[in-house]
Amino acid sequence: MNGAVFFLTVNFIVAISFSAVFAVVSTRSRSRTAALWLAAAFAIASLSAVCELCVAYSGWPKIWALGAFATVMGGMLLLNIGIRQLYELRINWWMSAGFLVASLILSYTIYDLPRGTPLQAFSYQTPFALIVLASAFPALSSSRRLAGDRFLGILLLVTGVHFVAKAALAVIVGSGSTAKDYIHSNYALVSQSSTAVLMVAVGLTLLSVLALEIMAAERNESEMDLLSGLCNRRGFERGVKAAISRRPDGQHAVVLCDLDHFKNINDSYGHHAGDMVIRAFGALLSSSAPNEAIVGRMGGEEFAVFLPNTTMDVALLFAHALRSGTAAMDIAGIPSSVTVTASFGVANLVSADQLEEMLRRADVALYEAKRGGRNRVQQAANTKASRPAQSMTRP
Ligand code: GH3
Ligand code: MG
Ligand code: MG
Repeated sequence: MNGAVFFLTVNFIVAISFSAVFAVVSTRSRSRTAALWLAAAFAIASLSAVCELCVAYSGWPKIWALGAFATVMGGMLLLNIGIRQLYELRINWWMSAGFLVASLILSYTIYDLPRGTPLQAFSYQTPFALIVLASAFPALSSSRRLAGDRFLGILLLVTGVHFVAKAALAVIVGSGSTAKDYIHSNYALVSQSSTAVLMVAVGLTLLSVLALEIMAAERNESEMDLLSGLCNRRGFERGVKAAISRRPDGQHAVVLCDLDHFKNINDSYGHHAGDMVIRAFGALLSSSAPNEAIVGRMGGEEFAVFLPNTTMDVALLFAHALRSGTAAMDIAGIPSSVTVTASFGVANLVSADQLEEMLRRADVALYEAKRGGRNRVQQAANTKASRPAQSMTRP
């Protein structure tokens, strides 16, 4: 087995393996269709190795040579479609089909040109370079701005340029005097090995982009509360830690909220009505909180709103607005004569590493608001502001 045959065999196995892995990943991925297009891309591209071997070792070299070109081009077009799907860009099917047909006509037209001339070599490689360079664009311009997306974009740029370099190399060192000779040329060895390396790199990078997407989706799910649609305690704490680390010297505050006599609501109007109250209260918190706030359901009928870059006075005003808003909620399953209320404990962050301490002080304040008669806002003691702790029902 010569070197080029060895690489063709390796390329075939690698491409088929990637195809199978993308098909498996598609069963778990949010980008299911993209993963399936990528599986199809690698499956089609794997056939080019078979065609190249048939060029060398069977009759009808022209048919197989055109087949090799068509399968590589088909694979790259599907890769382009998969990548556009992955980055949620529109696909112009007519343009894709037009490009495929035009490049096939080109490859047929140049087949009888002397091999290794600039016209033949560049005409052969340019369609590959163009389609791969076009695939780099969605990854590079992705609004996600993740390192994996950037790396994929750069890798595709390199792969695109490598096709132009291959054309130059074919002109310089020759690519065999006939299509049949190609496989015995040094050029074939370099060409097939560089393609193998880049194909593996592109495949692995695409897999890592899909894997990171799956992990992010699972983390979102594990950090979300299904009933209220807010973060759960885990998501809340992670979001708050990230917000504090962005502004460790900022003034941050938290409002802890607990629905009053919620057990009575469940007992009087049923668990479903209780759920509706939790939903409505969660919606009130998210619609009232500023965009940069982090709102979470900490468990049961207890919620928290973290207000970054907010002074205690503003946080207290916000809590009072929530208190009034709660009483005004209109909830299906609860008679309009019944007023749902909540109690609030407000604390601010003393230093960046004191998140638990801030939540503990807010909890103590909330407990005081409950003891003070409920439907109240209570400021935590020992806050940054030097005001004495006080219980208020009005701002
Ligand atoms: P307090 O004013 O002192 O907070 O009294 P409370 O009745 O609100 O507090 P308590 O801790 O005694 O009861 C909380 C109730 O919340 C008990 C529990 O069954 C109910 N609960 C917790 N999670 C859910 C939920 O997801 N849905 C519904 N419907 N009820 C819930
Ligand atoms: Mg309660
Ligand atoms: Mg409670």
